[in-house]
Amino acid sequence: MFELPKLKYEYNSLEPFVDAKTMEIHHSKHHQGYINKLNAALDSHADKKDMSLKDLLLQKDSFDSQLQKAVQNHAGGHYNHSLFFDIMSPTPGAMSTELQSQIEADFGSKDNMVEEFFNAAASVFGSGWAWLVKDANGKLSVQKTVNQDNPLTASQTPIMGIDVWEHAYYLKYQNKRPDYIKSFMSVLDWQKVSDNFQS
Ligand code: MN
Repeated sequence: MFELPKLKYEYNSLEPFVDAKTMEIHHSKHHQGYINKLNAALDSHADKKDMSLKDLLLQKDSFDSQLQKAVQNHAGGHYNHSLFFDIMSPTPGAMSTELQSQIEADFGSKDNMVEEFFNAAASVFGSGWAWLVKDANGKLSVQKTVNQDNPLTASQTPIMGIDVWEHAYYLKYQNKRPDYIKSFMSVLDWQKVSDNFQS
C-alpha cells in the first residue's frame, strides 16, 4: 500500500508564494486521491503489490490496459506530486557547482534554462507539467507532459517539475499562471534539485 509522504514544511510555510489553502487541498486531497486510486487499482493485482512506484511506471506497458491506464494516471500522479512537493522549501538552498556546470553546458546559462522552463510551463495546454530532465549521460533538457504523464523512462529521470494543473494555483492566481510559475521559482530548492541531479 502506498502512503502519502509527509511534507517537510507546514501548509502555510510557502506563503505568500503558495497559499496555505491550496497546499492543504493539493496535498491532503489531490495527492492523497492519486494514492487511494493507485492502491485500489493494485488491490486486484496481488503480483504487483510489492513493486516500487518507479518500477510500476517503467513497466506499465506490459500490464493489461485497465491497470496500465490506472498506473499512468495515479502512479504518475503520486510520483509527480512527491517530486513537486519535495523540491519546494520555505528556505531554498543553493545550486551545486555540478548542476551549475551541466546547466551551463546544456543551456548556456542558468537564466536561459529558467526561461526555457518558464516558457514550457506557461505553454502547457490544459492540465500538465513542465520538467527539467536528466538523461543517462547526465545531459539536461526541458520537457512538458499532459495530465499526470511524466518523462520517466529507463534512460531519463525528471529532477525538477512544476504542476500547472489549475488545482495547483487557481485559488490564489486564477487565470494568471505565469504569476504562479514565478512564485514557484521563489520557493524552488535548488539544493534539492542538485541532490536529484547527482543521485
Ligand atoms: Mn497537482
